[in-house]
Amino acid sequence: MDLKKDVKYIKGVGPNRVTLLNKLGIFTLKDLITYYPRSYQDRSKPQNIIECVSGEEVLIEAIACGKLSDVRLKGKTMQKLVVRDETSSCTITWFNQSYLKNKFEIGKKYKFYGKITNQFGKISMTSPVFDENEKNFNTGKIIPLYPLTYQLSQNVLRRIVESGLAEVEEKLPETLPDYLLREYDLEDINEATKHIHFPQELKDFEKARKRLVFEELLSTQLALLELKNNYMHEEKGISFDKNVKMSDVINQLPFRLTKAQIRVLEEIDNNMEAETPMNRLLQGDVGSGKTVVAMCSAYKAVKSGYQATIMAPTAILATQHLENFEKIFNSLGIKCELLISGISKKKKENLLERLANGDIDILIGTHAIIEENVVFKNLGLVVTDEQHRFGVKQRTKIAEKGKNPDVLVMTATPIPRTLALILYGDLDISIIDELPPNRKTIETFAVNKKMTERVNGFIEKQIQEGRQAYIVCPLVEENEELDLKSVEELYETYQRKVFPHYKVEYIHGKMKPKQKDEIMERFKQGEIDVLISTTVIEVGVDVPNSNIMVIENAERFGLAQLHQLRGRVGRGEYQSFCVLKYEGKGETVKERMKVMCSTNDGFIISEKDLELRGSGDFFGTMQHGLPEFKIANLFEDMPILKAVQEIAGKILREDPKLEQDKNVLLKDLIRDKFMKRIEI
Ligand code: ADP
Ligand code: MG
Repeated sequence: MDLKKDVKYIKGVGPNRVTLLNKLGIFTLKDLITYYPRSYQDRSKPQNIIECVSGEEVLIEAIACGKLSDVRLKGKTMQKLVVRDETSSCTITWFNQSYLKNKFEIGKKYKFYGKITNQFGKISMTSPVFDENEKNFNTGKIIPLYPLTYQLSQNVLRRIVESGLAEVEEKLPETLPDYLLREYDLEDINEATKHIHFPQELKDFEKARKRLVFEELLSTQLALLELKNNYMHEEKGISFDKNVKMSDVINQLPFRLTKAQIRVLEEIDNNMEAETPMNRLLQGDVGSGKTVVAMCSAYKAVKSGYQATIMAPTAILATQHLENFEKIFNSLGIKCELLISGISKKKKENLLERLANGDIDILIGTHAIIEENVVFKNLGLVVTDEQHRFGVKQRTKIAEKGKNPDVLVMTATPIPRTLALILYGDLDISIIDELPPNRKTIETFAVNKKMTERVNGFIEKQIQEGRQAYIVCPLVEENEELDLKSVEELYETYQRKVFPHYKVEYIHGKMKPKQKDEIMERFKQGEIDVLISTTVIEVGVDVPNSNIMVIENAERFGLAQLHQLRGRVGRGEYQSFCVLKYEGKGETVKERMKVMCSTNDGFIISEKDLELRGSGDFFGTMQHGLPEFKIANLFEDMPILKAVQEIAGKILREDPKLEQDKNVLLKDLIRDKFMKRIEI
């Protein structure tokens, strides 16, 4: 048995099906048997015909009462068969299945599974699958339903999986060490693989799933922790100069740092002075003041004789950072430059030259910094200010521009600790858990559609006082075309009917980056009064003069995302407001609106979000860079995740390099993880 065997050699797979399987990411026998079902259909328990609920899919056991009729109808054929059990009869209909003609014997019992309808006592079933009574091909068991099949039918895919399983039956090499299987009461790999596809009862499925989830989470966690161990123990980094004091920068600031900022800076300072390279995640809610932390760190690097780079998710944010940095650094004789994709060729050439010979101390920019031709003289510190998560690979790529530079990853997405460990397990974590003082909380209201006029009146009042407003469009099921339509419609309404006397503009994700930046710039300059937007403004642009945000159909957003959006206001001296317009009366909707109105604390909100929506949605809103799990669900499997994190920690404490015999299999698992297409 060869797990790497091409699926084209599996029974039932011809050239067409190979292509379709490949589209599902199934190339090898192993891919096939680890293509796990999304859910199951119980076709094992027959019901009495008379008791079946009309409209449901059911299994019946019934005797064929007559011959199958086969009639031709406008180019179609239709097959009918009348069957009965002890309680009632049922007419079964198929279309274009003439081959069924001689399949049924009068008086013999069959099992049918399909949708049943009962119209005033006339019971019928259309196009069911069936088996002879004692056979169990299509019925008589719990049937897996696979997440995506393209043009393969569930039946065909199931058959192919069955062939695959037949080849590996009882022959799969164990992938987890014996001691873990015993200690945590986990099923062996052969049982688990069989049962995850074809459980005989719920209990089988639960056991199988537990084992597979355990394996998946453990290998990911171990891989991340090992990566972290490698940085710490094997690679020598830079020891930045102990005599460079971050306080030189701090003393220039027009405000006092919060306790949290000071604590985080101490952690970073120590880490930078130590010889081990820094790989640190800085978490802090929107507005908690992460930029000055980046600034102090960059200062330390530069004054120690190195260059630093700050990477932001958009050009406009990068520009904003540059302005902030220059305010402090120009007077300290530190040279900052901006690299974004929009700059002219000549300017860029000149910039790259000065970067390579060390004239530029701090390079601030977008993804453009990752490009190959960007060469530093001696890069010592990399800061990424990210909206979404960069994967390990991208982080590594930019770090490769220096010799083991220190890396600081900043994020405003508050993540509960357990999750941070699996998303950022390769990093140390620092948290700013405090906002600067005197920050006015954003007053948040949840209202229904009927209040639209009053809300518009309120916006108008703010504009008259010189402020600006954001109006955020509803999310349309991740469909950019429809998002576009909704943003344009909303724009029409507001510009023509509601605020014809003010300047309204709109911005959305499909616009070219340059166009987006141009509109944001005009908004920042106060040339636009009302900005209609999709979630693209989630990114942390500072427009202190805008103090009101209205979010349409707020019920469609995750809480974490509402919080990110809301963070766009409340950045200046003005009392700020967020109005959540929602529809629907569900308890969860109300509960979620209540959470938003009652707290401004991102961590509380993200915990609640997880609780109320589940991880699928939570991460749906984070969108990018999440490790793709084949079977684990970070929310449902939180208890396993917690257990696994402890176990992984314990294993690596005892055997940091996984050199002991008993851990050989774990070493293989990790290697597998890193070779995969999936990026951690
Ligand atoms: P974020 O963490 O969202 O990136 P910023 O770094 O942009 O937040 O900071 C938000 C605003 O708060 C900026 O205008 C910044 O100058 C200001 N700020 C940062 N730290 C403090 C502080 N300790 N006291 C007062 N204002 C601060
Ligand atoms: Mg920021």
